[in-house]
Amino acid sequence: MKGWDAIIIGGGIIGLSTGYYLAKKGKRVLILEKRELGAGSTSRCIGGIRQQFSTPGSIKLAMKSVELFSKMEGEFGFSVEFVQTGYLFLVFTEKQKEKFLQVMELQRSLGLEVYFLDGKEVKELVPGIETEELLGGVYSPKDGQAYPFAVLRGMAEGICKRGLVKRRTRVVEILSRGGEVKGVLTSNGERFYAPVVVNAAGPWAKEVGIMAGVKLPLEPERHEAFITSRLPYRAIPMIVDYRPDGGYFQQRPNGQIIGCYTPKPRIPGARVDSSFEFLREMSYRIVRVIPWLKEGLVLRQWAGAYTMTPDGSPIVDETELQGFYVAAGMSGHGFMFGPAVGWALAEKIAGGKWPLPMEEFSLRREFSSEEALK
Ligand SMILES: Cc1cc2nc3c(=O)[nH]c(=O)nc-3n(C[C@H](O)[C@H](O)[C@H](O)COP(=O)(O)OP(=O)(O)OC[C@H]3O[C@@H](n4cnc5c(N)ncnc54)[C@H](O)[C@@H]3O)c2cc1C
Repeated sequence: MKGWDAIIIGGGIIGLSTGYYLAKKGKRVLILEKRELGAGSTSRCIGGIRQQFSTPGSIKLAMKSVELFSKMEGEFGFSVEFVQTGYLFLVFTEKQKEKFLQVMELQRSLGLEVYFLDGKEVKELVPGIETEELLGGVYSPKDGQAYPFAVLRGMAEGICKRGLVKRRTRVVEILSRGGEVKGVLTSNGERFYAPVVVNAAGPWAKEVGIMAGVKLPLEPERHEAFITSRLPYRAIPMIVDYRPDGGYFQQRPNGQIIGCYTPKPRIPGARVDSSFEFLREMSYRIVRVIPWLKEGLVLRQWAGAYTMTPDGSPIVDETELQGFYVAAGMSGHGFMFGPAVGWALAEKIAGGKWPLPMEEFSLRREFSSEEALK
């Protein structure tokens, strides 16, 4: 029997980030991961980091994450391949342009550097991009990418200085008494105790919520990705093509192209099977935007889960069971939000106050609005 300051369920970016920032505050943290670190969604993501969102809470959260990503190399002692190659949202219609310009106003008012580029400027930024149907693009140069495996490693090492990361340990029960969380029971029959338990179980967070009697509006869905062989490095930003048959892709610092698209209709479940349709479609979609990418060979494809909430924004909150927190429902943004979510939770758990406005992520919100830049 052991006492901890906090127990965190899940060794993905959200769980490790929360543990890392708690450990930096001197807290003794226990991470329980049923498989391996990153084995859920985090190792399956494509590493994109953007700040261009449409609501103040998400913009501020993402800006804080960028600040934290930029400090990681210094804190961890090795590179997490954080590069600010930007995000470029392609604009094809006047209606889209109008909507982006509106959102840009909000983003700028919060201090985000973001520009509308015309077709010629887009071409200068992305050599060889097809601009015939394009009105322009919305570009934020400080967005970027990082290498998820390196980020997880740095955070896990940080946690282990004060706490413990237990792999292959599944939580099967949340222990509580008198409306307060007390600890957890694992599949090997061990009990661990702490006044704080964080549900950072990603696609399985709904099930973990049920263990605590907490209902969470979360549904995972399958998303696929692929990566190509190395191509000449042209610092291609994350290109976001919002057309119904669009997608998003970027160039990694080693020249590879990595990308995804959102399937229509959506494919429910925490599934990791891959499809031939994705392989064919994704290849077609990136070459349509930048024809010279046809020189690349697809090296690998895979799939993982986005965990969705009804409004597309995360849930980061304490639940009705005192001391039992949830940080889940990250959609396609958990990697980029991860550092700031973990940092904010650590501040709240250790100091009792949210350091950022978090109402947008409340479990008690109505879930009636929708993130426009999903
Ligand atoms: C193809 C693809 C591309 C993506 N691209 C991006 C991107 O570019 N940028 C971005 O920000 N996001 C991206 N995402 C989304 C991102 O991967 C997720 O939002 C993020 O990884 C969620 O992190 P998490 O820690 O909440 O969940 P996870 O990484 O899934 O971690 C949860 C962990 O909890 C563990 N667990 C579950 N139940 C239990 C239990 N009972 N006991 C113990 N452990 C348990 C699981 O094994 C898992 O390891 C992408 C996702 C996919 C699939």
